[in-house]
Amino acid sequence: MSSLLQELSCLADYDPNALSVNRAREIILDLVAPLTGHERAFIRRGLNRVLAEDVIAPVNVPAHDNSAMDGYAVRHADLAAGGETRLKIVGTAYAGRAYQGPLQPGDAVRIMTGASVPPGLDSIVTQEVARVEGPRDGTVVIPPGQRKGQNFRRAGEDLQAGQPALKKGKLLRPAEIGLLASLGQVEVTLKRRLRAAIFSTGDELGSLGHPLQPGQVYDSNRYTLSGMLERLGCEVMDMGVVKDDPAALEEALLAAAACSDVIITSGGVSVGEADFIRALMARLGEVAFWKIAMKPGRPMAFGKISGAGSSAWLFGLPGNPVAVMVTFYQFVRPALLKMMGTQPASLPTFLVPSLTPLKKAPGRTEFQRGLLIQDKGIWCVQPTGAQGSGILSSMADANCFIVLEHERGNVAAGEMVSVQTMEGLV
Ligand code: AMP
Ligand code: MG
Repeated sequence: MSSLLQELSCLADYDPNALSVNRAREIILDLVAPLTGHERAFIRRGLNRVLAEDVIAPVNVPAHDNSAMDGYAVRHADLAAGGETRLKIVGTAYAGRAYQGPLQPGDAVRIMTGASVPPGLDSIVTQEVARVEGPRDGTVVIPPGQRKGQNFRRAGEDLQAGQPALKKGKLLRPAEIGLLASLGQVEVTLKRRLRAAIFSTGDELGSLGHPLQPGQVYDSNRYTLSGMLERLGCEVMDMGVVKDDPAALEEALLAAAACSDVIITSGGVSVGEADFIRALMARLGEVAFWKIAMKPGRPMAFGKISGAGSSAWLFGLPGNPVAVMVTFYQFVRPALLKMMGTQPASLPTFLVPSLTPLKKAPGRTEFQRGLLIQDKGIWCVQPTGAQGSGILSSMADANCFIVLEHERGNVAAGEMVSVQTMEGLV
C-alpha cells in the first residue's frame, strides 16, 4: 500500500463515519502542492490568475509631485499665520501640461487635479476656500489656517520605484490589474492555468437539447461546476456524462488523468453505488472514501488517479446539486487555490441574527442557504426556503451560507448564526 493511500485511509479510519469539515479540508490542503510552470501574458489576461514572480515597480507612482484638488498651488511660507494672504496668480498648471513660467515669492499658480506642482510650491489651497479678486488672472485671497503640504500628492506615495509592488502568489483581481497598468507594465509572469476535467455520472442524466425520458433529470452539475471553475480562472475540460458502468468510468478517469491536474466528478459515491467505484478507483489510483460530518455533502471521494504516465487529483463529489456546490466551496476551492500557487484564505465568516428558527441536528456541520437582508437597518439572515440537498433554487435565491456548527442544535429566531457571503468566492 502506498504512503498516500495509507495516509488517506488511516485518516479516514480515524473516524470514517464522521470526518469533520475542517479536518477533511486540512488533509486535502496538506496533500496538494502548487503546480509548476508559468507563462508571460498581457496583463489583461491575468484576471483571476496568480502571479508567478514579484513585480518590482520600475517607476514611482505617481511619477511626479501633483495636486490632489483643483485650486491654487502656493508656498506655505508666503501665507500669513493669523489672517488672509493676497497672492498674485501668475498662470495655470493643467494635468499633463505643467506651468513653466517664472515664480517669485508671493506668487500662486492656478492648478488642476493631477497637474504637476511647480517646483518651490508646496501646498494646494482648494478653489472652494480661495477667493479670486479682480480678473481671473488677478489676485487670489487665501484664508488663514492652511496646512503645509495639504492636497499635495508626493511622487512615489502610491508605489516606490525599486520596491515590490505585488508579491508572487498574488491572485490578480481588477485592482491588481489596474495597479500593474499604473506601473506601465505590459506583461506579467503568471502561474500556468490549472486544468480541471469534469464529468457527471449517472444513468438517469439527460443532456440539454434532448427531451427528458421518464425517470431522467437534466445534468445540471457540470454547468455549476464549470461556472465555479471558470470564476476561479481554471481551464475546464468538460467530458460530459458517464454512465454508471465500470468500463465507461475507467475509460473516463484514465482519459481525464492523462490531460488534467484535477478531476472533479459528481454522483456515484454514495452508499450502494460506491462499491464498484471503490474497487475501480483502488485499481486506478489511491482514493479514500470519506463520510464527512456535514449536510449537504456527506459522501465524498478524494485521492489520486494515475494513467498514461501522469496523474491527477480526484474529487468525487456527491450527486445532489446543492451538495456539489457546498463541497466545491468547502474543499475543492481551497485546494485549487493552493495548486494555482496562491494562499487559500479561509472564507470570511460573520455573526448575524437569524430572522427565523432553523432546524439543525447536532453532530454535523450544516451549510444552509441564506439570504442576508436588512431588517430595521440591521443585517439579518433568513433561509431560502426548503433546504433539501437537491433543491438548487435554494442556492440560486441565496447570497450566503448559514454555517451551523457541528455541536449545535436547533436555532431559535433571533439567535446569532455564522454566515459566509457568496460574493467573495471569486
Ligand atoms: P448520487 O450521488 O449519484 O447517488 O446522486 C444523488 C442525487 O443527485 C440523485 O437524485 C441524482 O439523480 C442527482 N444527480 C446526480 N448527478 C446529477 C447531475 N449531474 N445533475 C443533476 N442531478 C444529479
Ligand atoms: Mg448516481
